[in-house]
Amino acid sequence: MKKLKVKAVFFDLWNTIAFTDVKKDVFREMQVRMGLNELTPDQFLHECENAIMLQEFESLQHMYSRLLSHFSLNSGEILLGDLDFLWSHSLKKDKFFPETKTVLAKTRKHFKTALVSNCENFGFKYLSKEFDFSKYFNEIILSCDVGLLKPNPKIFYLPLKKLKVKPFEAVMVGDSMRTDMIGAKRAGLKTILLDRKNKFKGKKPEVDAVIHSLNELNKVIEFKK
Ligand SMILES: [Mg+2]
Repeated sequence: MKKLKVKAVFFDLWNTIAFTDVKKDVFREMQVRMGLNELTPDQFLHECENAIMLQEFESLQHMYSRLLSHFSLNSGEILLGDLDFLWSHSLKKDKFFPETKTVLAKTRKHFKTALVSNCENFGFKYLSKEFDFSKYFNEIILSCDVGLLKPNPKIFYLPLKKLKVKPFEAVMVGDSMRTDMIGAKRAGLKTILLDRKNKFKGKKPEVDAVIHSLNELNKVIEFKK
């Protein structure tokens, strides 16, 4: 395979550079406790993103209330307590992958870089305690700051414009087909799917390259000598 030639590399946050179980386990458990069985897990996740990742919240309590009102549920104490237990418990398990810092530092030396993430403000703040994002990224684009969610192409135009890079000169690295790959492709970027668990083995996802760890980035992108 010919290596991709780009000027900028954009990264997704969750399960691309940092591990979280919020997306799968926590949201699924929340869905059960909220009694929203009529939605598929993907629909529920999508609704949660719309409810809590498009604006900043002053406190976790505000965020939970917003989430419940989005689904027209009353903010009963039991449900609020359940959400708080699930969410804060899971926040503490969020951590960077072992290769993240080395790969990001190297990438930052060779390319313009951006973080493009669908996230609420607490998870990001929690990770920022031990990780200086500004050291690794020229631009940090969070859905809760800009009021846009991936896969909306507009969220990708923001870092492109700030970094003065054309869409085809940038590549998006992410673990989600729906938000990262499809969104970036719509915006005209190149795409690298990070398939850590080999979910796409034997399949041919419509992306420019597939990697299984961030360490493989230099196998698919041309780093300057
Ligand atoms: Mg992700």
